[in-house]
Amino acid sequence: MNWITNYVRPKIGSLFNRREVPENLWTKCDECGSMLFHRELAENLQVCSKCGHHMAITPRARFEALFDGGAFNTVPVEQPTTDPLHFRDQKKYPDRLRAAQRKTGEAEAMLVAEGEMGGVPIVAAGQDFSFMGGSMGMYVGNAILAAATRAVELKRPLILFSAAGGARMQEGILSLMQMPRTTVAVEMLREAGLPYIVVLTHPTTGGVTASYAMLGDVQIAEPNALICFAGPRVIEQTIREKLPEGFQRAEYLLDHGMLDRVTDRRALKDELTVVLRMLTHMPAQVRGDLPAPAATSEAATEGASATHPPATAES
Ligand SMILES: [Zn+2]
Repeated sequence: MNWITNYVRPKIGSLFNRREVPENLWTKCDECGSMLFHRELAENLQVCSKCGHHMAITPRARFEALFDGGAFNTVPVEQPTTDPLHFRDQKKYPDRLRAAQRKTGEAEAMLVAEGEMGGVPIVAAGQDFSFMGGSMGMYVGNAILAAATRAVELKRPLILFSAAGGARMQEGILSLMQMPRTTVAVEMLREAGLPYIVVLTHPTTGGVTASYAMLGDVQIAEPNALICFAGPRVIEQTIREKLPEGFQRAEYLLDHGMLDRVTDRRALKDELTVVLRMLTHMPAQVRGDLPAPAATSEAATEGASATHPPATAES
C-alpha cells in the first residue's frame, strides 16, 4: 500500500461522501450517458436534452403534458376478479400486484382519462410499462373497453398510448382473451365513425401488437421504440441469422410501411391535435385568445370576431 491508497483516496472519498446527494435527483441517459437533473428531465417529458433519447414516462405524467392545462378526469374501470388462477411463481400473483401498486401509485397497468387536447375533446388511454411490464391482463382489457365505451358515449376520438411486454402470464388464457375483446372495442369506435389513434411507445411487444395496438386509423410511434410480436433475440435464435440494423425499431417499421409517422414526444401534442382536427372536421387550432394584431387596421376589421371588437374610431 502506498500513500495514494492510504491517504489520498479516503480523503477524496470523504469529500464526496460528505454532501450526500439524494440518488433520485439525477438520471443517467441510457443512450449517451449524460447526467440529467430530474426536474429538467420531467419538463422535457423524460426525453434526454442532449441526445433526444426517449425514456419511459408514466401515463399520468404524459396526460398532464397532453391535456390542456394538465386538466383531465380519469374514467373509472371495472375491477376484474383478482388472481382467478391462483397463480404463483417465485411470488404469489396478488403480492406482485400489490408491490406494483405501491411502486407506481396506480391501480393497474392502464390509465384512462378524458379531457381536452389542443381544444379537441378526447378520451385517452395510457399503458404503464412500470406496472408489471405494462402487461395486458383482464384489467387492461376492461380499461380499453371502458375507454372505447366512453368515447362512443361522448362521441370523442380515442388516443391510445401502448407500452407492453405482452400478455400477463399470471392470468393465462384469460389475458389472451383480451385480444379479441379489445379488437371488439376498436370495432365499436369504427362503427361509430370515431377516430382511433395509436401511439406506440418503447417497447410495444407480444399480444398487444397482435390486437389493439395495430388497429389504429393512424399509427404513430415514438423514436427508436421497439415494436414487435416476437423480439429480435427470439427471432435471431430461431432463424440463426443476423438481423439488420435497427430491426423492429420505429424508424425501420416506418420505412417498411408499418407506421404512418415517427414523432418526437415533445412534438406529439401538436401533431395529434392537427391530425384529430382534420379527422373531426374542426378548423385549425388558434393559439391564444387575443384579437389578431392586424385588427386595428381597416382592412382587417371585417375578419375580427364579435367577441373581441377592435378599438376603432367608431366607439
Ligand atoms: Zn442522452
